[in-house]
Amino acid sequence: REVVATPATPDDRTGHLGRQDGAPGPSRAGTSALMMTVVKADGYGHGMLASARAAREAGADWLGVATIDEALTLRAAGDSGPVLCWLGVPGEDYGAAVELGVDVTAYSLAELAEIEHAAHHLRVTARVQLKVDTGLSRGGCAIADWPTLAGAARQAEETGDVRITGIWSHFACSDEPEHPANDEQEAVFREALVVAEEAGLDPEVRHLANSAAAILRPSSRFDLVRCGIASYGLDPAPGQPGTAEVGLLPAMTVRARLAMVKRLTAGASVSYGHSWTTDRDTTVALVPAGYGEGVPRIAGNRAEVGIGGKRRPIRGVVCMDQFVVELGDDTAEPGDEVVLFGTGLDGSPTATDWARAVGTINYEIVTRIGGRFTRRTV
Ligand code: PLP
Repeated sequence: REVVATPATPDDRTGHLGRQDGAPGPSRAGTSALMMTVVKADGYGHGMLASARAAREAGADWLGVATIDEALTLRAAGDSGPVLCWLGVPGEDYGAAVELGVDVTAYSLAELAEIEHAAHHLRVTARVQLKVDTGLSRGGCAIADWPTLAGAARQAEETGDVRITGIWSHFACSDEPEHPANDEQEAVFREALVVAEEAGLDPEVRHLANSAAAILRPSSRFDLVRCGIASYGLDPAPGQPGTAEVGLLPAMTVRARLAMVKRLTAGASVSYGHSWTTDRDTTVALVPAGYGEGVPRIAGNRAEVGIGGKRRPIRGVVCMDQFVVELGDDTAEPGDEVVLFGTGLDGSPTATDWARAVGTINYEIVTRIGGRFTRRTV
């Protein structure tokens, strides 16, 4: 059982946005925008440190993470480049991050004060990015409070305890390029930038776009794009025109070896709850991976795997450590390789195929993979 992640190297950039205009490396996203590779959630399941290293080698200007712990793990592993983290919680210990030059995000006056306090105590200048809520209604400063936060941030800069290095926001519907919320959010962001400028702020980076927006909405690229899913070679907006042309190639291949192959007679019921019954004599094989490794339980009777380049249906619910696939009148040997999902180039399904089959997004399919799979970076 293993997960093989094949990140791009400087000589092999297939799957990275740098291909868009043939620019040297992924750091340009087809424009003069800087590239932030988002490596939170263990690099979307690909391994955070391996992903971070690959991203830096391929030219990523910034790394993006959700939590301070993730940022500190990057620093502990020797990454000294620009890192932004965006999910502080009240009472967060900002000290170490601030001291190590991690950009932290403030959504509110309270958070700004906490960061300022930590920096003052350590006698360092904290690098702070302000997040404004332009319509996702998740984290971020409400637009009504934005002038107050921008003004307070400017005053805080005067103390030398903080420097406002960025202003940013996040889209709600960038995977639906025609959705009116995209225009609205971008317009609100532009207004917020004007307010910030009037307050006297002069950040290094202004940013709004995630993968889908970076590809499909050039006007939203500003100074920097924050790419997660596309950096791992997965389509950020499956089915929408415009993303397939980028030529993304999934980095993660999840594979195992068949544990057993056997013949079942017609009428045999398979897996817990007898969730599938054969309608003829047929051959099945046992795959030693299950929801204990993040293979969705409901992939049973929905998703397929690849064996010898042919797609085979999963039969019955996925168990904690194993599941059954049907080979029909074909056969296979115990020990033969089974590809759960991968590049799709050998006829096997992709994580996007799995997402479609089980009613989720490819992000969730790759991010939950872990457990007993051995991860190998090639
Ligand atoms: N920016 C923020 C704030 C995020 O939370 C995420 C991921 O959810 C990203 C960027 C990257 O998004 P995507 O994977 O769609 O490129």
